[in-house]
Amino acid sequence: MTERPLAADLIARFSRVTWVTLTGYAVLVIAVFAVVSEMSLSRSLAQSATVIESLLGLYADPGGERTTVAPEMLADQLVGMGARFIITRTRPSDEGGSSVYFLSSTMPAKRITTLGPRATADEVHVEIARAVAERGRWRYKLHHVRSGEFDIFVAATRETSLFALAGLAVAALALLPLTALAARRSTRAAVTQALRPVERVRSETQAIGPRDLSRRVSEPTGVAEITEIAASINRLISRVEASHRALEAFTADASHELRTPLTHMRAEAQWALDERRTDEEMRDALAAIGAEVERTSKLAEDLLLLARGDNRALVVERKPFEVEPILQEIAEITDAMATGRHLQVSVKAEGSLFAQGDPDHTRQVLLNLAANAVRHTESGTVVIRAARDDNIISIAIADQGEGIPPQDRPRIFDRFYRVEKSRSRAHGGVGLGLAIAKMLTELQGGTIEVASEMGRGSTFTVRLPAVLREGSNQP
Ligand code: ADP
Repeated sequence: MTERPLAADLIARFSRVTWVTLTGYAVLVIAVFAVVSEMSLSRSLAQSATVIESLLGLYADPGGERTTVAPEMLADQLVGMGARFIITRTRPSDEGGSSVYFLSSTMPAKRITTLGPRATADEVHVEIARAVAERGRWRYKLHHVRSGEFDIFVAATRETSLFALAGLAVAALALLPLTALAARRSTRAAVTQALRPVERVRSETQAIGPRDLSRRVSEPTGVAEITEIAASINRLISRVEASHRALEAFTADASHELRTPLTHMRAEAQWALDERRTDEEMRDALAAIGAEVERTSKLAEDLLLLARGDNRALVVERKPFEVEPILQEIAEITDAMATGRHLQVSVKAEGSLFAQGDPDHTRQVLLNLAANAVRHTESGTVVIRAARDDNIISIAIADQGEGIPPQDRPRIFDRFYRVEKSRSRAHGGVGLGLAIAKMLTELQGGTIEVASEMGRGSTFTVRLPAVLREGSNQP
């Protein structure tokens, strides 16, 4: 699926919003204009009516003959070019009842006749309004005021304001696409500008290949959120770089450790193949080759174990198991390893302790630690102690050996790390024992740490989740 670029998406969204807003704005302006012009027309008509009403006080009833006139004619007077107002007067009629008269400037007053001979003021009003509406409902506005026996009708045309309104609507309609187009162009420029840091982070990230892991994306970017993304990418690259370097170092160390015994074996074999070798010398050479093979296969097994651990391909149980039997077993093996030396191995466990984890892996961890303790302690004690602290089981193996220099302590759990390269090789280790111990402990959800004092000894402590009793994982 091809996805739309962010810039195109933002421009489309902003353009939609601009269209809707501009159209709404135009409609609103036209509506407000229409209402305001109607209101101002009403106001001016009402003002005219008030002026006429005040002038009516001066009106004196003229004598002379009374003739008749139709409301239609009066409507013509109102909407025509002549008078924009008319006044009617309702007087008692000679025949009884009342009659309505149109008071024109050209006197005498004319009686207004509607359908019947006797029109009331209200009927006349209705008729005039109807007649004006007939001449164009939207074109004229009629205002009517009654003042005693007088009725004042004022009318005005809406043509000017309708014309202006139409002009406004046409202008809005014609200018709307132009304005929207201009807004779209500005939006495109603004969006491109705003997305520039994103584009920079993208291209810089893309340029960082496996060989340039020391490079970083530049920050700050000028936009807080994008700087945060750049910082996250940089943190990620740092982690990738660290693991890449660790992997490189691991591969180099592993090759080196494999090559050394192979070189030994080849040298031994070549030496043994010499015709001058006695049977005994041949046997010694084969024994040496056998020992190297032993060491190499141990190394291969350790490497395989680490690789399986890294790939999460190792079966790690999380079940309750009793700690003490394992400690006794380790103590026996440790004792056997220390044969012929002044080393006392003892186990101290507080009650029956159950940990949550993998008993086989725990055994392997403790075996590595115990082997180290024996290797690094000439004489004294190796104490294997287990205790429960809240919901944690801690197993400590304390020796009275030479101790670990403070500067080496943070690194002794690293793969292939040895405190003293030549000395450790003499001991036979390649620096994987503690790395394996750490990996196996952490895979069980535990932790491992070391405390050491030079010349006094070291204590390795493994902590695993505790269980109250077998078959329960509740502490
Ligand atoms: P190795 O298999 O070479 O012993 P480890 O990973 O087990 O490798 O240990 C790493 C380094 O830590 C060793 O080189 C050793 O010098 C140091 N070390 C480990 N355990 C002890 C200990 N109990 N006392 C002193 N040094 C220790």
